[in-house]
Amino acid sequence: MPRLVVALGGNALERAGGTGSWEESVTQMRTAARALGSAAAEGEEIILTHGNGPQVGALLRQNELAEREVPPRPLDVLVAESEGQLGYLIAQELEPELARSGHPRTVQNFPSRMVVSSRDSAFRHPSKPVGRFYTESEANLLKKNRGWTLAHDPARGGWRRLVPSPRPLAWVEAESFLHLLSHRLTEKTMPIVAGGGGIPVLDKGHGRYAGVEAVIDKDFAAALVGRCVGAARLAILTDVPAVAVGFHKPWERWLKEVRVAELRGLLEGGEFGVGSMRPKVEAALDFLDGGGKEVLICDTASLPRALRGEAGTRVRR
Ligand code: ADP
Ligand code: MG
Repeated sequence: MPRLVVALGGNALERAGGTGSWEESVTQMRTAARALGSAAAEGEEIILTHGNGPQVGALLRQNELAEREVPPRPLDVLVAESEGQLGYLIAQELEPELARSGHPRTVQNFPSRMVVSSRDSAFRHPSKPVGRFYTESEANLLKKNRGWTLAHDPARGGWRRLVPSPRPLAWVEAESFLHLLSHRLTEKTMPIVAGGGGIPVLDKGHGRYAGVEAVIDKDFAAALVGRCVGAARLAILTDVPAVAVGFHKPWERWLKEVRVAELRGLLEGGEFGVGSMRPKVEAALDFLDGGGKEVLICDTASLPRALRGEAGTRVRR
């Protein structure tokens, strides 16, 4: 069976502009589950991964509000917590769909650690906005008392904490996961790995890893997972139908089929939104450089059609 890594975007797990309630997440995931059920029915061996931006933001806020009673957890621990809740959400909604599509599987979550480098420039230049908005005076206090980096977002009228978003260099559990795959793991199981980009850790040597306060972009983690498992295809599911040139400009054009060289040119020309489409395109190029055959970028519901070449952007070597 052709091996496929599917990366679920934030919108598959929580409604944009919604209340953030669990019920809304269940409804969102139901749509994604239908798409994944059909993809499994097409005979793909699927390995899942997913983002966690809004969920980590909510956990940070809970920690902040409760800090006088419950000592706050560091960010790497919150990423681990998000892997737990989202793995549960995905399993609950996806298993019935897989059974319905004639491909019953237990959806099994594999919380994962990703090694990052302390020399990654992301630690000197935190760039990923997380959590709530603060006023200017709150922001100044947090800079002074906690050493946080905060940035002003004029459009939304507030200050937000920025955390480092380093590149994942190695997947700690890769070898043991490959062993499971070679023992026919996916005959009974649809695995979820590296949720939320994985828990960022530093390699201290002698089998010891230390968690770090950072978050890893799930697009880069998905590309690394795809390379580790030798997947032929990587599908990055998001909330737009495809990759656009001139996004939101009068000359906007959706890319159907694009080769690596052309996409690299567009990337270098600054076509893709920093922190949104840009990491997907970089991850696509990284996966294809590492031996992958094809990357699909499309909206969640279109996955089955994108696999047949009828929707989304298809990137090829
Ligand atoms: P996800 O949770 O799926 O990673 P993101 O918000 O990080 O979602 O990325 C998807 C967003 O990328 C789209 O909603 C769109 O607004 C934005 N985007 C930026 N540049 C482009 C582009 N050139 N083509 C398509 N979408 C783009
Ligand atoms: Mg994103």
